[in-house]
Amino acid sequence: MISAVMPNYARTAFALVRGEGMYVWADDGRRFLDMGAGIAVNSLGHCHPKLVAALTEQAKTLWHVSNLYRVAGQERVADLLVANSFADTVFFNNSGAEAVETAIKMARRHHFAAGRPERYRIISCDGAFHGRSLTDLAAGSSEKHREGFGPMPEGFDHVPFDNLNAMRAAVTEQTAAILVEPVQGEGGIRAASPGFLKGIREICDEFGILMLLDEVQTGSGRTGRLFAHEWAGVTPDILATAKGLGGGFPVGAVLATEAAAKAMTPGSHGSTFGGTPLAMSAVGAMLDVILAPGFLARVDKVARVLWDKLGAVVAKYPSVLTEVRGQGLMVGMRCAVENNVLVGRMIDNGVLTVPAGDNVVRMLPPLVIEESHIEEAVAALDKSCAEIAHDLSPEKAG
Ligand SMILES: *Cc1c(COP(=O)(O)O)cnc(C)c1O
Repeated sequence: MISAVMPNYARTAFALVRGEGMYVWADDGRRFLDMGAGIAVNSLGHCHPKLVAALTEQAKTLWHVSNLYRVAGQERVADLLVANSFADTVFFNNSGAEAVETAIKMARRHHFAAGRPERYRIISCDGAFHGRSLTDLAAGSSEKHREGFGPMPEGFDHVPFDNLNAMRAAVTEQTAAILVEPVQGEGGIRAASPGFLKGIREICDEFGILMLLDEVQTGSGRTGRLFAHEWAGVTPDILATAKGLGGGFPVGAVLATEAAAKAMTPGSHGSTFGGTPLAMSAVGAMLDVILAPGFLARVDKVARVLWDKLGAVVAKYPSVLTEVRGQGLMVGMRCAVENNVLVGRMIDNGVLTVPAGDNVVRMLPPLVIEESHIEEAVAALDKSCAEIAHDLSPEKAG
């Protein structure tokens, strides 16, 4: 008989029932160091006092109002995002999938309003993940995610990731925009080379098309900057973000320049739940913490400590790990064994990590991680790799 909860996930046997800072507790009493953060969501760890206070206060005041009305929290958060990014304006919704879909809609609408409705196609990359709506599946590259859900919406062209020549060659008279993740997340924590985003910006300017960034996973301070593209020294026209934005409260946002957003006239787009007072209280509190002087510089600094130590473990166990890659606190370790074997061992050794494509195990810890937690995580990784290497050794097999 089918379970009451739809069986569309491969889940652990235990449930997580409580969290505090860097740790979560399971219903069987075990405690885990959380190096996955709900897949880059709990940016301030679990139950951060500032988030709890903001949400509790808001819960006593006002939960939801329609976007038929001005929502005061939206104005404060949008002002903060605009003041700290390339954007002139922000749209709020509830998830990464919706944020990317909105970015795609905006790109089409932009050309429509400029009298170029034939420009509707989006170029995206192999290895990309952009969410689970039909449109986002069409933009993404996973045949597995698309299986049985066709036909896909039309209008998406794919090129190899990190290849500017292929990108340029794919632009046609029908191209509306280029959509890319600065660091591919689900695809296996692959960072674009430094010139890739810059080259895309140049292509977009040359052909009059829009640059769309999917920073659903890379945003909210994950790489040591508010948004990962800041490292490349270029700005997009439209950016979708979500995951870490509410520190665990579901919320997404689309940031855009005035030029890219001016076709979004009243009635053109909307969301019932987008930007509720509750969501805005969480985002406001989260941004106040990560935009405080020194916070993101510290993320960059601890990330380097993590990278150094992970690099040493990778070098020590070549039969288990082959590479460490990514950016900031978005780290992938490519495995020589099946990635889920390592994820399982890490659970046994008290640390939560997240599998990704290309046989990678991800670490996406809360941004508040301290060096003591890094030592704990690396010790568990060393132990897990030693156990796996031992299981692989010829004496044991013989
Ligand atoms: C997670 C993710 C999405 C989808 O976000 P949801 O909130 O699950 O809809 C889209 N793009 C990227 C890069 C992501 O990592």
